[in-house]
Amino acid sequence: MITCEEAARLISDSLDRKLPLRQRVALRMHLLMCKFCPTFRQQLILLRDAASRYREEAYTPP
Ligand SMILES: [Zn+2]
Repeated sequence: MITCEEAARLISDSLDRKLPLRQRVALRMHLLMCKFCPTFRQQLILLRDAASRYREEAYTPP
C-alpha cells in the first residue's frame, strides 16, 4: 500500500504522462481505500482544467 504522499505524486504524474502498469495499479488500489486522495485527484483535475482553459483564453487573439 502506497502512502498518500506517493499517491499524490502519482496522481499528478498521471495527468502529465501515462504511468507504468504497476504504478497505475498501486494508485488505483490507493484511491479505492483512501477517502482523501480521490477528492484530491478530482480537485487537481478541475484545477488543471480551469488552468488550461484560462491559458487558451489568454492566448486567443481578439
Ligand atoms: Zn490517500
